Amino acid sequence: MPEGTFQNLIGGEWVKADKATSNINPSDLSDVIGEFPSASKADTEAAIAAAREAFKTWSLSTPQQRFDILDAAANEVLARKAELGRILSREEGKTLPEGIGEAARAGQILKFFAGETLRLNGELAPSVRPGVSVEITREPVGVIGMITPWNFPIAIPAWKIAPALAYGNCVVIKPAELVPHSAWALVDILQRAGLPKGVLNLVIGRGSVVGETIVQSPDVDAITFTGSVETGKAIAAKAVARGAKVQLEMGGKNPFVVLDDADIDVAVGAAVNGAFFSTGQRCTASSRLIVTEGIHDKFVAAMIEKLKTVKVGDALAEGTDIGPVVDESQLKQDLSYIDIARQEGGKLAFGGELLQPGKKGFYLQPALFTETSMSMRINREEVFGPVASVVKVKNYEEALAAANDTIFGLSSGIATTSLKYATHFKRHAQAGMVMVNLPTAGVDYHVPFGGRKGSSYGPREQGAYAREFYTTVKTAYQLA
Ligand code: ADP
Repeated sequence: MPEGTFQNLIGGEWVKADKATSNINPSDLSDVIGEFPSASKADTEAAIAAAREAFKTWSLSTPQQRFDILDAAANEVLARKAELGRILSREEGKTLPEGIGEAARAGQILKFFAGETLRLNGELAPSVRPGVSVEITREPVGVIGMITPWNFPIAIPAWKIAPALAYGNCVVIKPAELVPHSAWALVDILQRAGLPKGVLNLVIGRGSVVGETIVQSPDVDAITFTGSVETGKAIAAKAVARGAKVQLEMGGKNPFVVLDDADIDVAVGAAVNGAFFSTGQRCTASSRLIVTEGIHDKFVAAMIEKLKTVKVGDALAEGTDIGPVVDESQLKQDLSYIDIARQEGGKLAFGGELLQPGKKGFYLQPALFTETSMSMRINREEVFGPVASVVKVKNYEEALAAANDTIFGLSSGIATTSLKYATHFKRHAQAGMVMVNLPTAGVDYHVPFGGRKGSSYGPREQGAYAREFYTTVKTAYQLA
């Protein structure tokens, strides 16, 4: 394979696609990372057929076999985390420490699911009939189609691939076109760790071609998707129509409530991290800062002081706090929401300017709006960039109502020193994940991840709960 040219993995072989696209570094538009496939429908169908064939034997593999492969891959990912983090930061634009952290996370996820292969116990139930025994076991689902977004280029593929393989499924994965290198590196590691041919297939290409083929194929038993609400809903409709199992993780408009009694340093630290780190490109980002009136002015002033110290720059440069926006179309979306918020009457209290700190890239200063209300589009629609707005409220009750006033329900946070409010918020926040005195983004890898309302559909991802999606339950009765 020539340097800089990458291929699809189909049936255990690296296969060239007829068309290719360039992968560009958003920190430096003159830096072409490599040429990656733009796969066809036929390439995708070949990958699905390979997975189907491999499932015959892989579904009967032993937990030890699956443990050994996942554990070996985990070790390689962890040993190479600095290099993998660099690959990730170069193509996605999050800072190098964030990239290395994400690569390490992928390794930890692989380790966790290596262990899960050994923990998949069944149940025995007493029958209501004499002389009959009942066994409840879990079996693999089949071929899992995976469609992943650009914002976590290695962690999301890892948290879908690892449980799929751990429980004996085969995989066809289509990573986001903007960030194929990280997924390619992960798949390469897993393949070399000893996976039989066809168990894991990588098809890089467009959503409307590769994604669509995966979604429509009768040979794909289940589809797991992370991405936008619009695409997710369209995929779910098609998948459900043909009876496929489906799991969606989509957007958020996550609130972070700051109460009068909050520790101001904790509140500002969590708000800046939650709203702006990873360039605000996290589905768990805190884009609505809901602040009670007694602390509002102090909080806004402290946010602005903190934001003045934040360095936006090349993702790979030392000292960068916030990297560039991922691409031009996302940058346009961010800028258009900054305009919308202004037109709606929001006050741009900080940032929102395009920056050019050196090389030509998609650099945007974090934008903080104040004087916004819950009816404004800036507080209702996901921006997916370094843009956050402050909503002033009277008290905790108003704050909670505002926090829940959204079609989304992924993550919800509160800064307070009150046990009463913290406890009440944990129970009454309408979200899959609740954070007290912590940023809305940033989760553990061994516990369930997912949301409510318009944010998610289907079973949770990650931790032992992942088995709900990646296994199917069998109830066997036997007359003794
Ligand atoms: P974003 O790019 O904003 O994260 P998208 O929902 O557009 O969100 O993309 C998420 C993933 O879905 C990507 O891998 C993309 O290629 C894929 N995708 C986009 N459109 C379709 C489609 N019609 N069918 C299947 N997958 C799609």
